[in-house]
Amino acid sequence: MKAGPWETRALSTGRFRLDGGAMFGNVPRALWQREHSADDAHRIELELRVVLLEGDGRKVLVDTGSGNLWSEKEQGLYDVDTPPVPGVVGALRAAGVAPESITDVVLTHLHFDHAGGVTCRGADGAPTPTFPRARHHLQRTNLDTARDPNERERKSYLRRHWEPLLELDLVLHDGAAEILPGLFVDPTAGHTEGLQVVRAGEGDDTIVFPADVIPLASHVRVPWTMGYDLCPRTLMDEKRRLLTKAAEGGWTLVLEHDPHRSATRVVESEGRFQGGDDVAL
Ligand SMILES: [Zn+2]
Repeated sequence: MKAGPWETRALSTGRFRLDGGAMFGNVPRALWQREHSADDAHRIELELRVVLLEGDGRKVLVDTGSGNLWSEKEQGLYDVDTPPVPGVVGALRAAGVAPESITDVVLTHLHFDHAGGVTCRGADGAPTPTFPRARHHLQRTNLDTARDPNERERKSYLRRHWEPLLELDLVLHDGAAEILPGLFVDPTAGHTEGLQVVRAGEGDDTIVFPADVIPLASHVRVPWTMGYDLCPRTLMDEKRRLLTKAAEGGWTLVLEHDPHRSATRVVESEGRFQGGDDVAL
């Protein structure tokens, strides 16, 4: 799908599971389980979707999945896919893209299910950068919060994901920016400090990658926030602002964690938003 100068594809890097109740905050289970059935440990299945943008000689990856540096205990907790399931490198190769050809990695934020693929297990078993030659983009406030996380987020920001970034070509953005022609980042604070929403293209060609601002199609409804969100009230305001533009502009929203659909349009009726037509990316 075309977004301005960018040819855009969504790729699956694997799946994992998180507590269903935590994914839906104060929404009753009777409502959310219509679309997401929980397992015996009360977890629902989630996608680890990334986006590849190609244009003007550049190949840009938005987020990186959860990586493969997981201990047995963590794998049990999150039921995270492990090799031979693709991961970000396998997903790129399957799409005919050499991982070495990635020029830019845009990280929405450093929570492990978004930034885990920044590092992988090297030949000696130690963590090594997955895209050592790429320029990595992040909001400065998000790096600051990852380095000194609050107690609620301590298990989501892992040193092995952010520390190697400091040795790479890392561009820290301070607020909204056009990082490449027709490719924009816009910081929000409701889910975590310094999450950047990524947007490509113009007009009804626009594709948005809201990451954990709208992780599943169910979360297009403004009050459906996650228990993980730091400040649901702030997030609701930010979602309404984003969804208003998306509905008016006919934008496509990529759903990073939705196991049923990769992207959707947005419909607004009397101030209420919901998912519209599915879009295959
Ligand atoms: Zn997150």
